[in-house]
Amino acid sequence: MSDVIHLLPDSVANQIAAGEVIQRPASVLKELVENAIDAGAEFIQVVVKDAGRTLIQVTDNGKGMSETDARMAFERHATSKIKDAQDLFSIRTMGFRGEALASIAAVAQVELRSRREEDELGTFVEIAGSRVFKQQSVQCDKGTTFLVKNLFFNVPARRRFLKSDSVEKNHLLNEFYRIVLVHPDVEFLFYDGDDEIFRLPASNVKVRIDQVFGSAKKKLNQQLLSIETETNLVNVKGFIGRPEFAQKTAPQYFFVNGRYMRHPYFHKAVMLAYNQLIQPTENPSYFIYFEVDPQTIDINIHPTKTEIKFENEQALWSILSATVKEALGKFNIVPSIDFDREGVPDMPVQHSNEMVSPPKTIFNPSYNPFGSSSYKRPQMEWESLYSGFEKEKKNNDDFGDNFPAEAESTVIQSKINIEEVFTGGIYFQLKNRFIITSVKSGMLMIDQRRAHIRILFDQFLKEIQQKKGFSQQLLFPETLQLMPEDLLFFEQIKADLYYVGFDFEPEVPGRYTIKGVPSQLKGTESIIPLLNDMIERVKTATGDAVAVMQEQVALALAETAALPSVQSLNNDEMTKLVEQLFTCSSHNHTPDGKPVMNILTQEEIQQRFK
Ligand code: ADP
Ligand code: MG
Repeated sequence: MSDVIHLLPDSVANQIAAGEVIQRPASVLKELVENAIDAGAEFIQVVVKDAGRTLIQVTDNGKGMSETDARMAFERHATSKIKDAQDLFSIRTMGFRGEALASIAAVAQVELRSRREEDELGTFVEIAGSRVFKQQSVQCDKGTTFLVKNLFFNVPARRRFLKSDSVEKNHLLNEFYRIVLVHPDVEFLFYDGDDEIFRLPASNVKVRIDQVFGSAKKKLNQQLLSIETETNLVNVKGFIGRPEFAQKTAPQYFFVNGRYMRHPYFHKAVMLAYNQLIQPTENPSYFIYFEVDPQTIDINIHPTKTEIKFENEQALWSILSATVKEALGKFNIVPSIDFDREGVPDMPVQHSNEMVSPPKTIFNPSYNPFGSSSYKRPQMEWESLYSGFEKEKKNNDDFGDNFPAEAESTVIQSKINIEEVFTGGIYFQLKNRFIITSVKSGMLMIDQRRAHIRILFDQFLKEIQQKKGFSQQLLFPETLQLMPEDLLFFEQIKADLYYVGFDFEPEVPGRYTIKGVPSQLKGTESIIPLLNDMIERVKTATGDAVAVMQEQVALALAETAALPSVQSLNNDEMTKLVEQLFTCSSHNHTPDGKPVMNILTQEEIQQRFK
């Protein structure tokens, strides 16, 4: 038999690689504008047509390219920005992988015009589907213009995968914001067809924020507080919104060393600082810029990922938290619920080194910063998911493995010494649904299932973020068969599922064997519907909003693993549940904003006896 292995032609290899880098018009915009920045441009103009489907054009007045470079630029791994592996640890440019132009040219029709200051004539290159059609000298301005036409003209599957114009435009704008907010010294123009959408003269950060998010009527920069902290680990600068201007949706941006990043963990630090200053359904704006030694971060994970790993994450968290709190003038926070604790030492208002308040942080999973569609929860047969729990419960008087592991694993940022508060706490269960107890101001009522959802949600989210869930191997592995259109969404959450304790192996494309599940889900029978539900949730939570996605995954898991709403609990079980609830970052609401607890005040009770 003859040999069967052969190397793929470059055009095919490039097209495959392009799948990683170029997912939609917004990816093209990002790569081209970043290149313009790297070329030292002081002026960058973007023109898009049909939400970038038919044209994305980027013009800059940067340093331009020589004739050879103009051709070389389209080769895979062709870059002028790093030379060896060592350079990877001191990256100061936006790009460095040298794969963007090769990828774009593999899946679109590209025209390049570029001229260096010192050259009389510039170079024109026309390339489509990785094939060079033309290269010649032309007269053109100093700098570079890229025209990217008919994106995915040769990849119909990709083209079909694109969303509506409004969604794609949103993606384009979001990429644009992420860049212009870190380069206020560069002038930007943005045209949608013939319409001028943005004209942003060079300025400073504060003015730039206003240029982008403010309006003639509403000056955004007047709603902002400035923050600034310099330490030997990190410099934190930027602006945060005054609490009174918090809104349902608000721009929230982190940048590190001039690069946009997503960081759910740091986001939490900011949100916790606003705790009790804003309503649960509101969000503050923030624009926070970190400067750290490039050696202490890892930006090299994935071409389209915006997550960044920090060496000193914990320390940075504290610095950020303190910085934001200081700006908010907020250091003495008082616990929100006073427990009746006769004979129990007073709960300290402030621990020396811990955050004290039981925060009422707010989280609204249906809030989708990148899309306009409102999130709808898919229908599921929840009852069927609990059958496993009920069975186990009957012959097992304690919580068994279904109950969240001991408090350590669920403790999030704020710890209150709950033991002190709850020792000897007496709980009464109403209708096998509500836990009732007496607190200082009256009668506290807790919805037990919602409490459990909150506890598990925090736990799952933490596991996802810290990448350390526990897996329970399945005796009978299950098969997950994905529809082609779901495959991409599954890819997006695969890593998070793995971190939370799922263990799966690909069989054939689109089919996975589920070999293990998060230990909290042991006994759940409907793993496959759960996974499908998660994909469904991620689908509706458009875009690369990874936080939204992780929260959806955590919420789906929590809702599956949580106690049923009706189940008898003994006093120990209730104690445990309440204790754990109060170690949660936000114990007043479920992640999707439903109340977990309520107090019937003494006055209200007395009123009824009038
Ligand atoms: P990377 O940005 O990772 O180096 P790209 O594929 O985006 O890779 O670009 C390849 C090379 O083409 C860059 O390293 C740069 O030398 C050159 N280049 C791309 N865009 C421009 C531009 N607008 N102006 C000048 N040079 C550019
Ligand atoms: Mg680049």
